[in-house]
Amino acid sequence: MSSIQLHCEPLHLRTAHPFGISYDTSSDTHNVLVRLEYDGYEGLGEAAPAEYHNETQATVLAVLKQWQDDGIIGDDPFAVADVSCRLDKSIAGNASAKAAVEMAMHDLCGKLVEQPTYRLLGLAGLAQPMTDFTIGIDSLEMVEKKTREAVEAGYKILKVKQGTGYDREIITHVRKIAPDIPLRVDANGGWTPKQAVAMSRFLAEHNVQFIEQPLPKYAHVDDFRFVRENSPLPIYADESVCRSADVARLAGAIDGVVVKLAKTGGLLEALKVIHTARAHSMSIMFGCMIESSIGVTAAAHLSFLVDHLDLDGALLLAHDPFAGAEYRDGFLHIPSRPGLGVIPRT
Ligand SMILES: [Mg+2]
Repeated sequence: MSSIQLHCEPLHLRTAHPFGISYDTSSDTHNVLVRLEYDGYEGLGEAAPAEYHNETQATVLAVLKQWQDDGIIGDDPFAVADVSCRLDKSIAGNASAKAAVEMAMHDLCGKLVEQPTYRLLGLAGLAQPMTDFTIGIDSLEMVEKKTREAVEAGYKILKVKQGTGYDREIITHVRKIAPDIPLRVDANGGWTPKQAVAMSRFLAEHNVQFIEQPLPKYAHVDDFRFVRENSPLPIYADESVCRSADVARLAGAIDGVVVKLAKTGGLLEALKVIHTARAHSMSIMFGCMIESSIGVTAAAHLSFLVDHLDLDGALLLAHDPFAGAEYRDGFLHIPSRPGLGVIPRT
């Protein structure tokens, strides 16, 4: 049996506008492209490392090189769970590097049996929620401009980044341009518990659906509970929840979780996060980092299992080097091609 060859290379992406969140603003994203070669087939994966989860492009390239030298992937593309276990045992953390390998394995499996990944996972026939489009932190003038562009481009739901000294003004300016569009808010950990409660009351008056990560990543579970109990809006955790054990830890203190492949380390652990959240009657949003259509499309294959989608990573790019799930009328349409269905954009 031939073995699976792992190749990796830097993947630099640029956003159409500088993308601002509470603790960072950038136009450049440094991801990693993974290719798994097996028996004439190629599986594609993408790592979208984040410094606040202790990964960079350099750490991803280093661990991938180590796995390449160790031959850790082995020779069976269908041994996805086994490989995922081996990667976890070889090094802790490094979730986006693990996610890149795992999504490339799912891509290979699909190509080998000529089926799209979501069908192989048994998810055919389910409805998908609409995806939102994110308005990053910027000057009020630029927030208005971005909102206008988003509405004109036909986006049906907006997510607004918060965690500034002028959060209320941002919302007022968005609502001036888009008075009725469904809106959700992401503070990226930018508030104290008391600020979060005060903001929640303000946001409820402006018809916002829910708040994502009001408190810092390592905030105490009792602080999340305090905010939830005093907030008129549902509270979701993003940075505070990476794997399924984190969902259990915060159960009862939040209303929902944001699952991302770059945090779970792949589709299989993402499924565990989703099922753990469901077991605790929580809502689920599937999110992404700034990434190309490889990472976004891999996430889209699990989109049928969640309540909300925030899979706009590729939509924010100035140029997406890959074509995969295509945005039309609010929805991300998954290609009928086998595997992830992602191909280089020509
Ligand atoms: Mg978030």
